[in-house]
Amino acid sequence: MSGQHRCKHCDLVFDSKKSQNAHVIFAHKTTSPTIKKVLILGGGFGGVGVLKEIQKRVSDKEVSITIVNEENYFLFTPMLPEMAAGVIHPSNIAIPIRKFCKQAKFYQAVVSDINLNERLVTITRTFDGKVHALEYDYLVLSLGSQNNFFGNKNMEDNSFTIKSIEDGIALKNHAITMMENAAQTGDEDLQKRLLTFAVVGGGFAGVETIGELNHFIRQSVKHAYPTIDSKNITPILISARGGILPEVGEKLGNVAMKYLQKVGVNIVTNTKAVGASEAEIKLDNGGSIPCSTIIWAGGVAIDPVISSINCEHENGGRIKVNKFLQNPCNPNVFALGDCAAIKDEKNGKYYPPTAQHAIRESKVVAKNILESLKGGTKFQEFSYKSKGMMATIGNRVGVVSIFGKNLSGVTAWAIWRAYYLANLPTLEKKIKVATDWTIDLLFERDLTLVGKIKKKELQQFHLGAEMPSLKEQLFADL
Ligand SMILES: Cc1cc2nc3c(=O)[nH]c(=O)nc-3n(C[C@H](O)[C@H](O)[C@H](O)COP(=O)(O)OP(=O)(O)OC[C@H]3O[C@@H](n4cnc5c(N)ncnc54)[C@H](O)[C@@H]3O)c2cc1C
Repeated sequence: MSGQHRCKHCDLVFDSKKSQNAHVIFAHKTTSPTIKKVLILGGGFGGVGVLKEIQKRVSDKEVSITIVNEENYFLFTPMLPEMAAGVIHPSNIAIPIRKFCKQAKFYQAVVSDINLNERLVTITRTFDGKVHALEYDYLVLSLGSQNNFFGNKNMEDNSFTIKSIEDGIALKNHAITMMENAAQTGDEDLQKRLLTFAVVGGGFAGVETIGELNHFIRQSVKHAYPTIDSKNITPILISARGGILPEVGEKLGNVAMKYLQKVGVNIVTNTKAVGASEAEIKLDNGGSIPCSTIIWAGGVAIDPVISSINCEHENGGRIKVNKFLQNPCNPNVFALGDCAAIKDEKNGKYYPPTAQHAIRESKVVAKNILESLKGGTKFQEFSYKSKGMMATIGNRVGVVSIFGKNLSGVTAWAIWRAYYLANLPTLEKKIKVATDWTIDLLFERDLTLVGKIKKKELQQFHLGAEMPSLKEQLFADL
């Protein structure tokens, strides 16, 4: 019946919008229905970028913003290989998400279900596994990507990865442990095996990791392990392609390859790693390499919570978006970063999954949500030509492709540092990382092995009694 306003939570009917709003606030303890809800899933480059841009333009009286992330921090991944090699302290490349939340609400939780029909997202609290439901008017999907082992269980069980802070810490601890073990054996073969580390994947993550690790181990052996013969240090990079670093182009990729070979990295191209055990890695050419460390940077996949959403997908389960970064059938749903399939209209190719692109995309997503919030239809199209790409390859050497020019060596390394330091969020972390870099120039790397950390489980600890139903929880503002 016209002129009637039905509460969507309990079906009560009101004769004015005002009394319906008052009812929703008091009876259901939720925000006024006139306040639009923006829900951001993922606190990486894409999600935090959208959060920061929207917060600049709206007040909490107009829009309620919520962000969900599995960890309570944003991770600055380009500095992860340096962290794994002991240059930067782990917490200096991570920024608590609450630091970005001027008005937004933050949940440290795992996104476990996304229901576009009901506009409902289910999250599972990290610390006790309890579920909670969140509703939205605008949904931002920015859950990044996960390691992809292509179903190879042996590889998954026997390799390290380089995607999280824990990965970086584990890798550094393992490298130190291998040096300590190698220093205590006079057996040449065993020492070589302990100091052979194979990195699978010739992209950013793999190349930067082998470059930094090679430098870390060689320098540490030189300064602290007199019983290790440096000839036994055998870093190996395995690339399925003909070259490495496709992100910076063929010419610069070759420069990086030559440099790495010069400093003692063995590069195996056109080869796939197909199997692994604790003691060796198997290759698709039938060969195998005895080693005690395998690091997998050989591919990424999309979180199943994204690929199982009932909407259009493309490019390995990524969310299909139009040029405004909206899912075509759900214009209130935006996707960006590694989990979105964003096509460059000019050449029909997908934009690459990089931090640089996720940051740019976040500005467009934020602009378009703001435009929609004010009832406008002048959406901004996403179009971006990368100004350049760069990578560090260890020992104060970098490769940079910028404004069509190629640079390598110490100048490229200095540009890399200046660029990424400028992009690292918060002044506090910039100062801390700059200090870590300065310390690294003046002193040898810290070889303290911080292991065996005792973990206390809180199994008897409950937050509240019985959990209400998902729908009820919507109204119980935590
Ligand atoms: C080692 C390494 C080095 C790199 N170097 C560079 C570089 O030099 N330059 C460059 O441009 N790019 C680089 N990249 C790529 C870059 O990190 C990604 O392209 C970028 O992070 C993508 O941003 P995003 O927001 O899509 O995802 P992310 O930044 O990965 O953020 C996704 C967030 O979602 C969270 N999340 C995922 N699933 C769930 C879930 N179910 N529930 C709750 N939270 C969840 C994750 O924990 C994460 O915080 C590098 C990547 C790695 C791993």
